[in-house]
Amino acid sequence: MAEQLLIDGKWIEGTTGDRIPVVNPSTGEQLATVADGSPIDVYQAVQAASAAQKQWAATSPRERAEILRNCWQTLLNHRDELAKLITLENGKPLADATGEVTYAAEFFRWNSEEAVRLHGTIGSAPSGANQILVRHPPIGVVVMITPWNFPAAMITRKVAPALAAGNATVIKPSELTPLTALRVAELCESAGVPPGVINVVPTSAPADWFDAAVEHPATRMVSFTGSTNVGKILLRRSADRVLKVSMELGGNAPFIVFDDADIDQATAGAMTAKMRHSAETCTAANRFFVEQSAVQEFTEKLTTAMNAVTVGDGLNPDTTCGPLINQQAVDSIDQIVQSSIADGATLTAGGSPIEGTGHFYKPTVLTNVEPSAAITQHEIFGPVATIIPFTNTGDMLRHANNTELGLAGYVFTSDVGRGMNVSEQLEVGMVGLNRGSISDPAAPFGGMKQSGLGREGASDGIYEFCETQYIAVSW
Ligand code: NAD
Repeated sequence: MAEQLLIDGKWIEGTTGDRIPVVNPSTGEQLATVADGSPIDVYQAVQAASAAQKQWAATSPRERAEILRNCWQTLLNHRDELAKLITLENGKPLADATGEVTYAAEFFRWNSEEAVRLHGTIGSAPSGANQILVRHPPIGVVVMITPWNFPAAMITRKVAPALAAGNATVIKPSELTPLTALRVAELCESAGVPPGVINVVPTSAPADWFDAAVEHPATRMVSFTGSTNVGKILLRRSADRVLKVSMELGGNAPFIVFDDADIDQATAGAMTAKMRHSAETCTAANRFFVEQSAVQEFTEKLTTAMNAVTVGDGLNPDTTCGPLINQQAVDSIDQIVQSSIADGATLTAGGSPIEGTGHFYKPTVLTNVEPSAAITQHEIFGPVATIIPFTNTGDMLRHANNTELGLAGYVFTSDVGRGMNVSEQLEVGMVGLNRGSISDPAAPFGGMKQSGLGREGASDGIYEFCETQYIAVSW
């Protein structure tokens, strides 16, 4: 197992010799320890990336494309092994982990196709005096910081387009799930990525790590996925060096059910949008706005579906919801649920932690939630669905948009015209219309408002990792 720092193609112990324990959230057992990177290690990693980047950028787009396609194939060849690793350190059910590996790998295939189509433009100046030629060179060294909820995909969604454009990277995976990141990097090197182009430096001291990365003059961009609060800290620090930033931050998705919707389809969509990956996704449905005349049927069907969820160790093939990442997550979700009940919400399923080993919480449904209740302003990040009845579409939309977060939203209705109209009025970067799942490497992923800056995936994703240079040319 890859358990050291990957710097300049070499596996090394950190300068301090300290190790970070990695724990299985289902059992509480220690799985491994990984080397704990210090500020000196990060600085060296940026140095290595800077040296490697120049040669990498000088390779032909076709050569980069073929290496990236090889990464796609290599990750797929190791899908079962990687899925098991994800389940062990993150806890999500094996089926979700397997889906994550397929999704993570696909960013390499998609961006291998983008690498050879990274076009600029040329046009005449309005005066006719010259041509305006626009090209998109790579930025240089990109520092990437990623969360624990998708230990593989949140890395490949950044690495694949960054490499396609000719950049090199230094990655700080979450200290809770570093094993997948290290193994993915090892597989990418075996697929042909040259030494130094991908460096991985886990740490138990993220703020010091980031300071060292920002201080290195070769660092030119910060690409972050994680909570809005940490994103704001990184934005402030990045401003000191006017670094380019891309931010994929938290969500608080509304899930809207009109009474003309197929309620079975809406329930299935709700279970996908709420519960996949142990209900710990940034796009998770967080507030269920249900038209009053459909509330009873939807609540009954969602309650039945939530009661049928099998919570347990993700390695068990029957498990459909794994543990939360740690005890702190269990405690904070329970506190939100209990205060919501105290505020008048009605509990129809779950409502408490599961006693015993591991960090498990019962799939929970709360109904009769007031649109302005405190729970509606939290990104719950766990298996709790809150149902908010509505009668007036305009009022409902005001409440749905009454949050500083705007990542994803969902609309269920049999009237597609109404669905499009409501989708357009949602202040979110991504909408699922009669769909509970929206992530796709071919689509632009990202949020409005405080859910982020920039987009990952689609052809937008590669341009995030490019500069724009214009040459005024006369001939
Ligand atoms: P987090 O913000 O706590 O941590 C994310 C990463 O930032 C981790 O690697 C962590 O070590 C690092 N970090 C924390 N403090 C830091 C600091 N001061 N300096 C530098 N790095 C620091 O988030 P999390 O708990 O790992 O993940 C859950 C959050 O991520 C949720 O809010 C979720 O919505 C969000 N998320 C967003 C997307 C998206 O694409 N928009 C995807 C997945 C997760």
